[in-house]
Amino acid sequence: MADKYQQFTTTPLGKFVTSKLGLPKPPVLRRYRPGQPPLDGPALLGAAPNGRLEKTLTRQLDAAGIDVLRESKEGTRYGALVFDATGITDPVQLRELYDFFHPVIREVGPSGRVVVLGTPPELVEGRERIAQRALEGFTRTVGKELKRGATSQLVYVAEGAEEATESTMRFLLSAKSAFVSGQVIRIGTAGSKTAQPPANWDKPLDGKVALVTGASRGIGAAIAEVLARDGAHVVALDIPAQGGELSAVVNRVGGTALQLDITASDAPQRLADHLTQRHGGVDIVVHNAGITRDKTLAKMPESAWDSVLSVNLVSQLAVNDKLLDDKVLHEGGRIIGVSSMAGIAGNVGQSNYAVSKAGVIGMVNDGAPRLAERKGTINAVAPGFIETQMTAQIPLMIREFGRRLSSLAQGGLPVDVAETIAWYANPASSAVNGNVVRVCGQGFLGA
Ligand code: NAD
Repeated sequence: MADKYQQFTTTPLGKFVTSKLGLPKPPVLRRYRPGQPPLDGPALLGAAPNGRLEKTLTRQLDAAGIDVLRESKEGTRYGALVFDATGITDPVQLRELYDFFHPVIREVGPSGRVVVLGTPPELVEGRERIAQRALEGFTRTVGKELKRGATSQLVYVAEGAEEATESTMRFLLSAKSAFVSGQVIRIGTAGSKTAQPPANWDKPLDGKVALVTGASRGIGAAIAEVLARDGAHVVALDIPAQGGELSAVVNRVGGTALQLDITASDAPQRLADHLTQRHGGVDIVVHNAGITRDKTLAKMPESAWDSVLSVNLVSQLAVNDKLLDDKVLHEGGRIIGVSSMAGIAGNVGQSNYAVSKAGVIGMVNDGAPRLAERKGTINAVAPGFIETQMTAQIPLMIREFGRRLSSLAQGGLPVDVAETIAWYANPASSAVNGNVVRVCGQGFLGA
């Protein structure tokens, strides 16, 4: 599963060959380690006149232990450039972006961060709506131009939700978002009042129970590890055939194993019983279990269509209904889906899979108001190319394309998906509802 090409580019011979032939040089991404400084260098904070986030941001960055500069300083290598664009109410004022970023964009350090904050265009009208929508073109392009593993995001913050941005800023600025770039995140007013910072940012999930399906390997095992690291008791679920690997994960993270085929007709009931009787309910549900049965539509047997739809979508809806109807999911609970780039862009040979993964996005859209009524949220990640057993099966040349055709020129790691899920699960993310964030290194597919 190792990216041998990337390893080669870090050797003296590899450096020589790639520079002579003009080949891609995938940067080594800074990834989260407990105790590491929040940023590699100071954050430069700017704002368009009359921005409504500037003061909150200064306070939040300060609380996160980030050195904040309000003026650029010659010779500084920035860990992040953060710009409050909520004051931009007319397209003419978009010039503010140029004025702030142009002089300093070259000074963003390796794995540095660009974050622009705006107002959700759909909540404003006229020229302000146009100007706010225009921000997307900026952050997505900057993500493609940045070098050395730096990333760029746009965060739309509804008026009234200013205080609910802390968990999102911490996630985006930290090394936890290493493989997330070119994304647009919305923070709404629903849930913004309950977005309290956790008592301990290193253990935000203390006292929470988290169910992770498909947890015996790959991305699911990484999700179990990261949620446990953040303090949750993890109920790790997988099919009985994966029982051995599932026990190994549970022994590592100190959770509970549950052998269950999620598509069984009695699975929702058995799950509800287990969670209620053994754990008094559940706070976080991560629908990670997923399968592929690839064939072009003309050659696809019925069984391949049915099994993929059943595991990747239909069984998840049945579980959600049961856990919500019987109030097994606590108030303020989180449901997190795992979609895919194939669900956004489509993919040859994956009509069944793409339907199921686009359906997960539908599940998020449909579920958001229902969860908000219970002070909860539902969101999804859409992984791009992630180095797992699933992607190791892809033929070499296609695999190489999958890895390199992204702004970060490499595949992501399971932990990158897991960290994004942990951000959704954080109690301070209660105003992050109805989002689908791609964890794809800004993959060019479906961009
Ligand atoms: P994987 O095949 O390594 O792991 C999936 C797990 O789900 C397995 O442990 C499997 O036993 C379990 N599972 C399958 N059917 C089940 C059922 N009926 N009941 C309970 N458990 C079941 O895959 P992965 O690469 O770790 O992918 C995890 C998720 O991420 C999947 O939903 C996948 O579609 C999605 N995804 C992966 C990638 C990638 O690049 N690897 C990209 C996009 C999306």
